[in-house]
Amino acid sequence: MSKFNTNLVHGIPCKENKTGAVNPPIYTSTTYAYPNAESAVRWDYARSGNPTREFLENQVARLENGDRGFAFSSGMAAIHAVLSIFSPGDHVVIGDQIYGGTFRLFNQFFKRWNIEFTAVDTRDSAAVKTAIKPNTKAIYFEPITNPLLHVTSVRAIAEIAQQNNLLVIVDNTFLTPYLQQPLNLGADIVIHSATKYLGGHSDVIAGIVVTKNKKLSDKLYFSQNAIGGILSPEDSNLIRRGIQTLSVRLDRQLLNTQKIVVFLQKRNDIKKINYPGIVGTPEHDVAKNECKDFGAVLSFEVQNINVIKFVNNLKLFQLAVSLGAVESLAELPAKMSHAELSAKELLSCGISPNLVRLAIGIEDADDLIVDLEQALNAAK
Ligand code: PLP
Repeated sequence: MSKFNTNLVHGIPCKENKTGAVNPPIYTSTTYAYPNAESAVRWDYARSGNPTREFLENQVARLENGDRGFAFSSGMAAIHAVLSIFSPGDHVVIGDQIYGGTFRLFNQFFKRWNIEFTAVDTRDSAAVKTAIKPNTKAIYFEPITNPLLHVTSVRAIAEIAQQNNLLVIVDNTFLTPYLQQPLNLGADIVIHSATKYLGGHSDVIAGIVVTKNKKLSDKLYFSQNAIGGILSPEDSNLIRRGIQTLSVRLDRQLLNTQKIVVFLQKRNDIKKINYPGIVGTPEHDVAKNECKDFGAVLSFEVQNINVIKFVNNLKLFQLAVSLGAVESLAELPAKMSHAELSAKELLSCGISPNLVRLAIGIEDADDLIVDLEQALNAAK
């Protein structure tokens, strides 16, 4: 059996490719001809199945060691399809620091369909157990959260779920299958905003779901086909292409992140760095046991400088939400990704107005450090 990096590059050889082209073809046809009215056909209508999308779906399923993959037109469409397997009256325990768009979908959309949610700090096993009710069906969380980089043990949640006959649903956008494979740690469903590291170039919005067994695969296929939020063949190909360089991009991003953390640790205008790679934190101990590495996103609070001036002075780091692409980005959660929250809500989540989040790209670390240094010095 070939290894991870080989699987990234080659995917699963495509039966539909009769030409010898080294890349799988992009099939744009929406419908497929039946040889005759009585024959069963492999492909009929492209919402139900498309060879280009299926290549990507099979590839990610193999990388996650799952039963089947499903590609959607956004991470949110993927999450919507997953939550659609539940019924009115069901209850789901969710992480209290999940992506804001996910929280909005649960709280403002699925609640209207009478699905209940309880948000807890999933790092706290006792809190998770307390939140479980007779109608609880699943625990939904992100092993590494944004922007504070809280780390939850997938194994610990899976153990609780197993004792209570619940599904474990993991949004692992931040780590990717290169750094963690949640299904191997006991999760049942893994979700990615493929917009981030899988695509890797800030040029396509996409979502992926991988299921652990056939029963869940059948439910997800029903949701995907019935709701119809599929990824287009062209975008499926872009994500496939992005995946080929996932590990080489991440290797550079991880190295750059380590160098930037060391730089920030030496500055007295940096108060607190949130990064699970920093030894001596409970986050580090959990991540070390369950992840190959600690990811390429970090956040920190500045002190005795003007945070707005700091981010405005950055030249290489672009001031933008999102993460996971080749270029480095900086953002102010209180003013950008989490701007919907009131000052009180921000405080209760632990997001200070001085918190800066960096998503590290593949540029030269020395250049990124020079950029941070000049922007910090100019913000005094
Ligand atoms: N999950 C996480 C952790 C995210 O960060 C995001 C987007 O930022 C999403 C899901 C939603 O994905 P998309 O923007 O591709 O719909």
